[in-house]
Amino acid sequence: MDTLYLVIPCYNEEEVLPETSSQLRNKIQSLIQKGRISPQSRIVFVNDGSKDKTWEIISKLHEEDKIFQGIKLSRNKGHQNALLCGLMTVKDHCDMTISLDADLQDDINAIDEMVEKYYEGCDVVYGVRSARDTDTFFKKFTAEGFYKVMKMMGADVVFNHADYRLMSRRALDGLQSFKEVNLFLRGVVPMIGYKSDSVYYERKERFAGESKYPLKKMLAFAWEGITSLSTKPIKMISVLGGIIFIVSIIMLIYSIVRHFMGATEIGWTSTIVSIWAIGGLQLLAIGIIGEYIGKVYLETKERPKFIVEKYLSDDDNN
Ligand code: UDP
Ligand code: MG
Repeated sequence: MDTLYLVIPCYNEEEVLPETSSQLRNKIQSLIQKGRISPQSRIVFVNDGSKDKTWEIISKLHEEDKIFQGIKLSRNKGHQNALLCGLMTVKDHCDMTISLDADLQDDINAIDEMVEKYYEGCDVVYGVRSARDTDTFFKKFTAEGFYKVMKMMGADVVFNHADYRLMSRRALDGLQSFKEVNLFLRGVVPMIGYKSDSVYYERKERFAGESKYPLKKMLAFAWEGITSLSTKPIKMISVLGGIIFIVSIIMLIYSIVRHFMGATEIGWTSTIVSIWAIGGLQLLAIGIIGEYIGKVYLETKERPKFIVEKYLSDDDNN
């Protein structure tokens, strides 16, 4: 039987924690009773620099029942960093982790299926929303748009999958070897490899408190995701520069023809041609410089080039 740790980032979640903690405890206890996970399994709340009573509640839960653990961040670092911190802190104490939000919008009944997939040999199990009926039109539109724009910009993310996922210990070890500072979990996890699968669930409404992801944060998050995963925006500048340069050559031919037809003012040809040519060349040049900056940028990330899945060596005792 393997040990499961649930990791839950919390930012100003005093309203939802009492309910969340009791629901999660029931879930873990029923899984322990069914013999699917070991009795050492835990529920870990990561306090992301909350300004309310979140940390007090977590400490109290821990005092009353050791099934609850708490990690306190020095300050608010945002959902992604809080989650990563939680995963890295617990990784060596368990065999698998499941990350989820404190508001339980992600159906916790999907946990059973995730654990089954883990025993079937999956190292990563993505929780994917099958419906967005409970989201407002605006949330649905912006969230689905987010995945589409991300794909277009070359960031390979699992459609409609947020951060509700199971990860095995070795997948977490793989994640740890990604040294980038701007870590975008949703984009990086598929890069780890190993066998993965998805579990579908319906997303519920937040039962208390309000969303900590206003539009402004969501846009910043999307931009972070695109720029930390791909150099496609830079490539687009080069392509645009190339197109404008081609247009300038067409303009050159056109204005020379017009010039010899005598249909132009003096000076028009040279002015128009130089505007287009210089503009196109400049954009092209910026784009090319950008390509190299892009390369440097990817290098400085020091991403692992590979992750060893199996090692057949002399001592095969383990
Ligand atoms: N969260 C966090 N730090 C932040 C913002 C949010 O740890 O700076 C947590 C929050 O407590 C919740 C999860 O991230 O557990 C998702 O936030 P929320 O439910 O507000 O996002 P939404 O579901 O509206 O996208
Ligand atoms: Mg939520």
